[in-house]
Amino acid sequence: MDETIRYIIEFILGGTSYSQYADMVGYTSNKDEFGRYRIVIVPSGFFDKDLYGTVASIPSLLLDYVDGLPVLFGKDEKYFVGSTIVIKADIIASSYFFISRYEEYVCRSKRDVHGRFPGKESFLVRAGMIDSPLIDRYGKYLRQLLRDSGVSVDEPKEELGKVWLTHDVDAPFFCRSFRAVVRESLKGIGFPKAYSIFNGNLEKDPYYTFPWIIEKDNELCSKSEGKCSALYFLKVAGNGGFDKPYYDISFKDVRKMICQLKSGGALFGLHSSYKSGRTPDLVAGECLNLSNRWSIGKIKYNRNHFLRSCEPENFRALINAGITDDFTMGYADVSGFRLATSRPVRWIDPETRCVTDLIMHPLLVMDCTLSDERYMGLPEDEAFEYCVRLISEARKYNGEVVLLWHNTSFVPGIGGEYHKPLYQKLLGILGKLL
Ligand SMILES: [Zn+2]
Repeated sequence: MDETIRYIIEFILGGTSYSQYADMVGYTSNKDEFGRYRIVIVPSGFFDKDLYGTVASIPSLLLDYVDGLPVLFGKDEKYFVGSTIVIKADIIASSYFFISRYEEYVCRSKRDVHGRFPGKESFLVRAGMIDSPLIDRYGKYLRQLLRDSGVSVDEPKEELGKVWLTHDVDAPFFCRSFRAVVRESLKGIGFPKAYSIFNGNLEKDPYYTFPWIIEKDNELCSKSEGKCSALYFLKVAGNGGFDKPYYDISFKDVRKMICQLKSGGALFGLHSSYKSGRTPDLVAGECLNLSNRWSIGKIKYNRNHFLRSCEPENFRALINAGITDDFTMGYADVSGFRLATSRPVRWIDPETRCVTDLIMHPLLVMDCTLSDERYMGLPEDEAFEYCVRLISEARKYNGEVVLLWHNTSFVPGIGGEYHKPLYQKLLGILGKLL
């Protein structure tokens, strides 16, 4: 647990570049130890064995505020013991709550129709704090406390750390198989049109918006000096239910797609299946399939299809499959800072309480979250304003911006009418900030 506490303190302070300050912050209620530290955070009791892991440990919305910051555990009390500043606002447990995905671990009965933890049920959304990264704000507070105690600490630069332009390839083609021609002939656009799409150039297929995406993404990536990457998540399983349609590298069109994406400089990750969101052991096989057959190298990145990952077992399966970076952590129904930070953070297993090597990247915005009436249902101007607000929050704390736009969202009538102009406007904003 000491290593976990040390990691959390360092992470709150700003990461490894603030490592030298982490030893100046203690987490103890033992008064004899106070003198060793510049700052002491007194534990609130969250980790006590009678409380930890119980529903009673989930904080109420009647929060204490310290310097305008809500704290989930502990209270607003600050005093000096000698030259040491002692605070009772337990920002360690408060941060642990988000980094370990504790809420999902404890409240396993709260799930939507897809088995996901609903954003609207989450503490951050209920408390009205999903649009600002609370842990990063704790960092600013803690650095100020260190300054108050006489330590000279710099603020991180207000600039974006990284931009990830990500695209989940759920349905790359509309009508490029016999099955699709039959489907569309019977109840869709009719045989002549279906056949002409099937028989024509791949680029004429309405879902195949990749050339346009590559062009737009590359405009930003090429001038970002490595701070912007395009990342595509590919499915390798899809025989049932929400995992349809199935596509595979043995299909000629898929080979062409991969070739075009590769030549555009894109990175690839696994889009682990809907089924694996409930049967995590499937991930290892999907990962092997993708890395062995698709000639795209070792698979390090993952995002779960439907963002269907909300249990410790899912993350453990990723680690076992050799995944190092996960991009699933955003709520499907509300965009914002699900992890309460804008920075990539190592997942803490809430059962073992140990820091793992799996890095969670905060998914800031998904296209359909903004436009879908079941989710936020925002008109274009409000969606744009909300995204800009989130991006500027991430920038304040040297954080990341992870965007998720599907290739089908750029198709009029499929993904909402405004995603094409909205996406271009957001890339324009990011271009000015990078
Ligand atoms: Zn998907």
